[in-house]
Amino acid sequence: MTKYDVLRQYFGYSSFREGQDSLIDEIICGRDVLGIMPTGGGKSLCYQIPALMFRGITFVVSPLISLMKDQVMALKSANVPAAYINSSLTYNQLLKVYDNLRAGMYKIVYIAPERLEAEGFRDLASALDIAMIAVDEAHCVSQWGNDFRPSYLKIARFISSLPHRPVVAAFTATATELVRDDITEKLALCAPFRIVTGFDRPNLNFEVHSPRQKKDALIDLIRQRHDKSGIVYCQTRRNVEKICDLLNENGFAATRYHAGLDDVERVRNQEDFVYDRKNIMVATNAFGMGIDKSNVSYVIHFNMPMSLEAYYQEAGRAGRDGAPADCILLYSPSDIQTAKMLLENSDIPEDADEEFVELQRSLDYERLERMIAYCKHTGCLRGNILDYFGEEHGEECGNCLNCRTTFIERDVTTEAKKILSCIKRAKDKLGFSVGMALIVRTLHGSRDKRIGELGLDRISTYGIMSEESRSFINDVVNHLCTLGYIGKNTEYGSVFMTELANDILFGGVTVTMKFKEERRVPKSDKSASVSEKTVTDSGLYEHLRKLRMEIANEQGVPAYIVFTNATLADMAAKKPLDMGEFLCVSGVGEQKARAYGARFIKAIGEYIHGNV
Ligand code: ADP
Ligand code: ZN
Repeated sequence: MTKYDVLRQYFGYSSFREGQDSLIDEIICGRDVLGIMPTGGGKSLCYQIPALMFRGITFVVSPLISLMKDQVMALKSANVPAAYINSSLTYNQLLKVYDNLRAGMYKIVYIAPERLEAEGFRDLASALDIAMIAVDEAHCVSQWGNDFRPSYLKIARFISSLPHRPVVAAFTATATELVRDDITEKLALCAPFRIVTGFDRPNLNFEVHSPRQKKDALIDLIRQRHDKSGIVYCQTRRNVEKICDLLNENGFAATRYHAGLDDVERVRNQEDFVYDRKNIMVATNAFGMGIDKSNVSYVIHFNMPMSLEAYYQEAGRAGRDGAPADCILLYSPSDIQTAKMLLENSDIPEDADEEFVELQRSLDYERLERMIAYCKHTGCLRGNILDYFGEEHGEECGNCLNCRTTFIERDVTTEAKKILSCIKRAKDKLGFSVGMALIVRTLHGSRDKRIGELGLDRISTYGIMSEESRSFINDVVNHLCTLGYIGKNTEYGSVFMTELANDILFGGVTVTMKFKEERRVPKSDKSASVSEKTVTDSGLYEHLRKLRMEIANEQGVPAYIVFTNATLADMAAKKPLDMGEFLCVSGVGEQKARAYGARFIKAIGEYIHGNV
């Protein structure tokens, strides 16, 4: 069988995505590879297809139990003999898997890294015909990355202990060159073929909003997407609890996930989401790695994440099936404070040496600064991300909020003068500097108790910006901070005029600022073209979705294991009425055609003839 036969027969796809075929070719020739692809880029097929073509068995090292379970379920549904070995198996189940392994019954076996050195397994492994070791999430082997797992260091030792060295294929979505090089070294890859595929995910729409009330904004955003499945990421467990309650109170079906919940609840909530019993998951970053749910149609970040890498990975969980999806970040400057606090309080291993910790810290801060820059970026958001991953791109993508937004440049010198004199007057009156919030409220003419107590309502700048909104005043103050006219005392949070400020007050220097004004351009055709080359009949789509749900329930698997949304959409467009046509639908392989073809064909026939 050629790789194309395998692609069509088992997975039901007719063409490879960027990078897949060259990685597969190299692996088949016995060369080690390092595949660097974005989340949702299609890494799994790169090792699953050679695994099906090799005579021997393939082990896939993977960091998370949930990932293994999901992948094995998907493989079995495509008629691939697969299993996993991890701590979720009982002793008897483990023995059964070992027996089957010895009998040569599996093609692909997922394994947790810490299991590689278990005595029983090592002996067994040396007697097997192992064709390939695939390493998923390979950046976990590097201390320079943001997800280091010491157990990954066992992989190289395990491989070198084997009587015959299998081909080693490593995959990651990591961005930094340092980590990419480190993977080659720590996994002892042999002159690997290395490929970095396009990190761009054209079906994802990127937006950053800085709403005054994040909660209201969130509810609005979700209301517009009430029939869709989505993830809301929060920075802290406390926020997860609050937001999940908020959404449920507002009539949405939300569940939650964070490291503070017990195992039973975590598994239950995750399954509620994956099986579409609840369509919103509110979670910390503990949720998601290994979640393959392909019909997630939006990812909203309620807080800013700690790095652009983390952001792209989390946001990238939307639209894995290629259908248009939204990645929205709700940003406020207080997110920076929270992020810094989290960095300061992050765990430091007891035996870590000082230099190492220092270095990690500075890397963390660099990553955070880059993340903040994304939130404040006024150019193309996709371009900003692709720059980070070292990828070339056009100036405007047309499928992000900033590309649909016109920025108007306004002169804000008068406003700047008012703000600066207010800072000066307040300091003259009190003898000490106050925080930004008080300055903004004074300018706005707030009747706040604290303002009265301090007597700030009796200075001449009190209320001189009462016509403006507080968020506008806030934005200008922040802008003046960025330009260096206002300084901030990091310890007390108070703001003060810098020497530069005199240039504005007395030197005739002017200040301008860019303001967003969203063009009412419909979301780019680009996003739609990805999955909807042909017109999908939405009534039929709904009809097929119900059938999919019915089948998923009968079989006790998540709906996307039956067919992904993209496959369903293609089916609703092509309207196949016999088996030959059914096999032409993207994502329909032989096994699935056999298993479900008749029912879907019947449903389509009934729909077309108006019998539903
Ligand atoms: P990754 O592991 O890189 O995050 P996956 O391997 O989970 O991504 O693939 C993401 C989705 O893309 C899956 O639903 C998969 O079936 C689909 N996919 C992968 N390769 C192809 C292809 N050549 N054609 C169409 N869909 C594909
Ligand atoms: Zn853009």
